[in-house]
Amino acid sequence: MSKRVAVAAANWKMNKTVAEAAAYMTELSAAMKDVSGPVEVVVFTPFTCLARAAELAGAAGVGGQDCYWADSGAYTGEVSVAMLKDVGCTHVLVGHSERRRRFGVPEPELTGELGEVFGDNDFTVNRKLLAGVAGGLTPCLCVGETLAERQRGEIDAVIEIQLRRGFQNVDAGTAARMLVAYEPVWAIGTGEVCDADEADRVCGVVRRAVAAIYDAATAEAVRILYGGSMKPDNVEGLVARANIDGGLVGGAALKMETFRPIIQACAAR
Ligand code: PEP
Repeated sequence: MSKRVAVAAANWKMNKTVAEAAAYMTELSAAMKDVSGPVEVVVFTPFTCLARAAELAGAAGVGGQDCYWADSGAYTGEVSVAMLKDVGCTHVLVGHSERRRRFGVPEPELTGELGEVFGDNDFTVNRKLLAGVAGGLTPCLCVGETLAERQRGEIDAVIEIQLRRGFQNVDAGTAARMLVAYEPVWAIGTGEVCDADEADRVCGVVRRAVAAIYDAATAEAVRILYGGSMKPDNVEGLVARANIDGGLVGGAALKMETFRPIIQACAAR
């Protein structure tokens, strides 16, 4: 059994009102009391829900789904790390594929430079990650290949470059305490889960890349989560694998009915 404590992380995306957030966090606290085995639970909520979610979080961590790297200033619509800390956040998600390239671009126009202009790239993700660390938050860095990159056989190269750029100027001690989520873009919200052998293989690529950037001890310590259509019926097979330390869960984490078994499977692995 791994020495690493498993992590079950919920990404609500753009879902839930403050009242719904409060009801969920109350249910989550109750669910966590029944879980047997070591597991950390983190809930990434919309900015509007963070304060209330943090008040009711109990043993769970709460995080923003993004942040900006400046402390304050003329950045309309952005939220700083200090603001996330102010409302009780412990974590921040950086580099989610829905924030890389896609954000702000209407789907039919999501091509070429338009994608680059509006969304995150490896360099903005690194600045956000560094800001999160400097402000005392635990970042969860998301990496993953698109379907086109997979079909071109570029998976490992894409992951390695995202990690090298994402971890620029991050020291080994910080990297060891961070979370990395391997999220194949084609598996997010599609119902198409990555096969457990392949998810474990790519999480192994992540771990070896961390060893190459830092050292074996850092690679051994970092928690690597799988994300992409994780559900109660596939979670056990995924988290049983040597390189998968838990899950970053979207759709199935919106209801406690489906998130509870995922938390339990992470704890029991
Ligand atoms: C996610 O949003 O990070 C995610 C993995 O979503 P889903 O579980 O719905 O595929």
